[in-house]
Amino acid sequence: MKRIEQPVVIVVFGASGDLSKRKLIPALYQLAYQNLLPANFTLLGFARTPYTDDEFRELAREGVTQYSTAGFDEHLWRWFSQNLFYMSGNYDDLESFQALAKRLEELDAERNTGGNYLFYLATPPSVFKPITSLIAETGLCCRTSADHLRRIVIEKPFGHDLESAKDLNQHLLNLFDEDQIYRIDHYLGKETVQNILVFRFGNGIFEPIWNRNYVDHVQITVAETLGIGDRGGYYDKAGAIRDMLQNHMMQLLALTAMEPPVAFDAEDVRDQKVNALRSIRPLDPEEVDQWVVRAQYGPGVSEGQEIPAYLEEKGVDPHSTTETYVAWKTEIDNWRWNGVPFYLRTGKALAGKVTEINIVFRKPPLMLFANLIANPNTQVPPSNVLTLRIQPDEGIRLTFDAKRPGPAVNVERVAMDFSYSESFGKDPGDAYERLLLDAILGDTTLFIRRDEIEVAWERITRILNGWKMQEEKAAQAGKRLRLPRYAAGTWGPKEADELLARDGRYWR
Ligand code: NDP
Repeated sequence: MKRIEQPVVIVVFGASGDLSKRKLIPALYQLAYQNLLPANFTLLGFARTPYTDDEFRELAREGVTQYSTAGFDEHLWRWFSQNLFYMSGNYDDLESFQALAKRLEELDAERNTGGNYLFYLATPPSVFKPITSLIAETGLCCRTSADHLRRIVIEKPFGHDLESAKDLNQHLLNLFDEDQIYRIDHYLGKETVQNILVFRFGNGIFEPIWNRNYVDHVQITVAETLGIGDRGGYYDKAGAIRDMLQNHMMQLLALTAMEPPVAFDAEDVRDQKVNALRSIRPLDPEEVDQWVVRAQYGPGVSEGQEIPAYLEEKGVDPHSTTETYVAWKTEIDNWRWNGVPFYLRTGKALAGKVTEINIVFRKPPLMLFANLIANPNTQVPPSNVLTLRIQPDEGIRLTFDAKRPGPAVNVERVAMDFSYSESFGKDPGDAYERLLLDAILGDTTLFIRRDEIEVAWERITRILNGWKMQEEKAAQAGKRLRLPRYAAGTWGPKEADELLARDGRYWR
């Protein structure tokens, strides 16, 4: 790839924070390492904390030394750091934004950055609206009439239910054009997630079997081993459904279920993702228990670490009904997937850290070898499973049964494996690297469009409404709702196993 020609100033709001230090600045440094940034690339951090440019550079240096995958190179750092600037101001204060406009003018004049600005909102969502209102009010980002690059990148969470997501969309679209708005979901920047599209539509042999005729069901798992740690205040308001399911997992589902796009460009890919999301069967909130399991972790040990019960974590309401685990069975009502359930599960404090999609194929029509399985660990009905492993050990694996060498017909489960690191000699790059590059280049393919986020929220809000109804019913009966528990360090509650067992299936 060639170095970006167009100069740009990236303005990071919330530049004093965790995301900026751990992800954004290291990702930009990694782009510099690959010689991809424009010659007069400029980053202007903006936050309330009063740092000088030098103090901000020191913070950035810590971030790069600790988190950059490119390693620390003193020579490169000297070039990179002299392009970093900082100013402090308030997110809801017109004067601060007038000062920002002035600073940007100065930087344009000094550094020949051509009035091209990419605004990155790396702050909590409570200040998304004031920041964007003031960006518009000060004329820093007008609708696409200007010949300059003027774009806004918005971090997650984008709303907390359908209504708030619509409200934020409306607010943004009153100020900017849709093609200036980059709603980020960093999962889409992961190589392995993008590879779902290449795997499906770049090869001839998988697509013909990627449908109800051959696929029995699909499982999508995002499992984490850690508890919520010191994020209790945030997590107790969000829960697994908002933290993972509404955004990252809906994206994985859309990419797995979508039809082939007409072309590999932003609108065509996103049109098909929206169609897939729209085909998700709308859940009747009254029936939430039939389709969704929610639970909280109890005490246990995960990765050798003692984890207290969720309700005893710091910052968590001891009567909280926020879920740390959710499993959802859904159906996709279209020609390709009719009758093929999709099971999604995610949770904290589970037995393993893994993100993967399992496509479980139908059994052979006649089970010739069903009673000949040699390995007691594979005493399960034969089925071919295609695993798209997003993390860790990124790769793809197809399991099938094979005859074990020897005079008897003994069957054993084996696998064909593709590993990213083995095939390409390096680990896939960081998601933020790719997404920042695309945002500078103006490619919105890997960002979420307005209708996509709203349809995802529409389906998820139905679940949230179902839970709200349950809580109201419990309160009316003078009871307190208690969620099912699972011990930290296990694979989740028994209710989630039962969700599949009812259909004669089990989690892979
Ligand atoms: P932080 O809590 O670190 O906040 C970033 C900065 O915003 C802080 O340094 C602070 O700067 C300012 N800030 C914090 N709280 C408030 C508040 N209540 N009102 C106004 N300003 C505030 O967040 P992160 O950096 O972790 O995340 C930023 C955004 O990115 C969030 O929306 C988060 O959901 C999202 N995100 C973060 C990820 C991560 O790994 N951290 C991963 C994926 C998404 P100051 O006080 O100097 O103004």
